This record gives sequence, C-alpha cells and structure tokens, in this order.
Amino acid sequence: MSQFVENYSEIKANSTTNMRSLLRATVLNALAWKEQIGGINHWLSKPRVQFLYIHHSFKDELENLNQLMKMLSKQHTFISYSEAVERVLENTIDKPYISISTDDGFKNNLPAAEVLNRYNAKACFFINPGLINVTDYNKIATHCKEKLHLPPIEFLNWDEVSQLQAQGHEIGAHTMFHDNMAKLTTEQLIDDLQACFRKINEHCGEVKHFAYPYGRFYHFNANARKAVFEIGFISCASAERGCHTVHFGDLKKEDLCIRRDHVILDWKQNHIFYFLANNVRKMNANTNLFPY
Ligand SMILES: [Zn+2]
Repeated sequence: MSQFVENYSEIKANSTTNMRSLLRATVLNALAWKEQIGGINHWLSKPRVQFLYIHHSFKDELENLNQLMKMLSKQHTFISYSEAVERVLENTIDKPYISISTDDGFKNNLPAAEVLNRYNAKACFFINPGLINVTDYNKIATHCKEKLHLPPIEFLNWDEVSQLQAQGHEIGAHTMFHDNMAKLTTEQLIDDLQACFRKINEHCGEVKHFAYPYGRFYHFNANARKAVFEIGFISCASAERGCHTVHFGDLKKEDLCIRRDHVILDWKQNHIFYFLANNVRKMNANTNLFPY
C-alpha cells in the first residue's frame, strides 16, 4: 500500500469538519432544490465562459469526474484554457463554454486527464515547479500539511508533466512553492514569479497562464498583478467564483481577473450545478475585472 493518500474517503474519514460538511450539504440541498424549480437548464444554457477547477482526483473520485463531464457536456462546449481566455478578451462568447483547470500538480491529475480526454476537454494544469520531481516523503508531507492543509499526496514529475502536454493539455504556473503572495514583499514575489516562469519554460517550452495560490482576492494584490504580466504571463486567475460574459469596450489582458469555480469531485452534482447556475444569475461584465 502506498504511503500517500489514494482515496478521498481516507481524507473524509480523518476530517474534523464532518459536522460542518453535513450542515453545508443540508443548506446546499435546499438551495439546489429551489434552483431546480427555477429551472437550472434555463441558466446553464446562457452564453458565457465558465472556468472550473479541481485539485485532486483520487481513485474514488474518478467516476464522479466522469459523471460531471457527462452532465456538463449536455449544455456546454469544452474549450482549452487559452481559447477561453481569448474568447473573454476578444468578446467572442456566443454559447456556453467551459474550461477545466487543476491546481497544485498532484500525480492523481494523470487519471483525471484520461477522463477529460474521453470528452476531448483540454485542461490547464497549474503546477508549482518547486514540487515537481520531489519524492522525499517528509518534504511532501510537510508541504501538504503546512501549505495545503492536506495529508501527504504525491506530486507529478517532469516526465508526467510532458505526458499531459503530449495529450494536448496546457501547463500553467502557480508560484514555485505555493506561497500566499499577499504576504511576500514585492522583491520576493518578483523573484518567485521569474523562477517559476523560467522553470516551466525550460521544461515545457512555454507557459502563458498563471493562477495565484489560495485564490481569494485577499491572497493577491496590485503589485503581484503588475509583476505577473510584466514577467510575461498573458492571464491571471483567481479562485473567486463567477463566470465571464460579453462586455462593452476593450478588455486588456492585464485587467482581466479570471474567476474560477472550485469543485471537489466528492460533492453532490446538484450542489455543483447550483453554484454554476448562481454564477449565471449574477454575471455581469464588471466581474471581469480585478478589484485593485
Ligand atoms: Zn493551489
């Protein structure tokens, strides 16, 4: 048996937040039921670009990913991350589009890619190059505990990153070691972004997209945003929920704050669809922008 976590049930069994999850599920069930009455299909049929992202896809989550993709494919067209960014910037949002990404570069992204391939969905895998090829158990355990609040999960190596690219997926940057950028000095964050950009370029040929760790607006700031584009990335993603719609006037790449909806594959499908429908209900062109 592997010393690394292989099933989400192992994480759930050790979770101290079970009561909270139960309460959350009850509230979401009620909300999702209400949404059902309002007609979830009505909202999901609206033209938009919706970015969805996952972290892990353990063995016992793969069938959920398959079912989610199957459901989503009924109303949506899956597009690559680059195409999604381009459609938002160029205002060519003529139908419901979905772009999938993953954060943190876990080894279990490989079987997830196999599922995505069945739907011809090209994803962007945001990695921390400082963790790629790391095999030392203690180092991984410390990183997962301190930075990700998770038990030890194995990371990809560079050969596996290349395999993902060979399947048509993109590789994005997520800082060297998953630091909270709002806590770094300007000098530290520039050094980190440069190292990350260089390292991925060296192994993957190019890197265009950046997603900052933790993803809430308060995990980032105006200095970090400026540095991301100056270093050469063409997009910057948060993990603030929302989706992107047509806008009026020009939208510059450095003004676009990509919003992504986080999905844990263990969540009930009607909860995920509740979040998506809620995004559509609230969408407007202002949510394309950074708050700073
Ligand atoms: Zn992350």
